[in-house]
Amino acid sequence: MYIAFVKDQLVQSPVGIVLPSVRSVNIHKQLPLWPGIEISAVEVDACPEGCELVPPVEARFLAPDDLAMYARARQLLYWQTQMRFCGFCGTENNLQTTPNEQFLLCPQCDQRHYPRLNPCIISILTDYDNQRVLLGQAKKHKNGMYACFAGFIEAGESAEQALVRELKEETGADIGRCRYLGSQSWPFPQQLMMAYAAEYRDSEIVADPDEMNHVKWFDIHALPDNIPGEQTIAGRIIRFVTSRMRAQQSLYDDYFSLS
Ligand SMILES: [Zn+2]
Repeated sequence: MYIAFVKDQLVQSPVGIVLPSVRSVNIHKQLPLWPGIEISAVEVDACPEGCELVPPVEARFLAPDDLAMYARARQLLYWQTQMRFCGFCGTENNLQTTPNEQFLLCPQCDQRHYPRLNPCIISILTDYDNQRVLLGQAKKHKNGMYACFAGFIEAGESAEQALVRELKEETGADIGRCRYLGSQSWPFPQQLMMAYAAEYRDSEIVADPDEMNHVKWFDIHALPDNIPGEQTIAGRIIRFVTSRMRAQQSLYDDYFSLS
């Protein structure tokens, strides 16, 4: 069984993203998806007959289970390309697979190289007093979607420090309490999104002109139609947080405080 890619495009057959065979085309790379199970991530030179190619921008709309499998396959293949050579001495790495793990091993300096993840925070800003949430229209979203605020965690930062910094940068907002909600692998190419709800504290809202077209408060009973889908953590936290607010249930009681 295979999850196949032609460069960064997923091969999809009429029956799904896991294919029984790709032997009709040349396989450049093959990695076990998880040690001990018989599904491999493969990079092939052409789309097998009867299949279609799905570009990364459309892979975001896969069903959650398929997206998780896609995430692992794509990140493993990306890792193989990104870490083909040892960053310490420049020697070409060899793939090592054990019953419990796989890693790239430098035959010269014995350095092990594992897939790299880039942790990010993603957040929705809540204003319980006024029954509203702040969402933003990012410049990178060409379809005018209203979504959450997100950014990379920088070296030396905790996730919560990144949350405070990113929300200040993108919206001008100061925040009070926050609550961790969950995470999702986001393989475009190798992010791990860590989701938080954050409590708005009275401060002037000013959209970051470099990243945002604008930011806007939405009444929790009148959300815009063009928010992220439920297969994404952004879409899920918008729906979860606003449903809790509509039910007048606090997200923050007895929860972690940054101050
Ligand atoms: Zn080395």
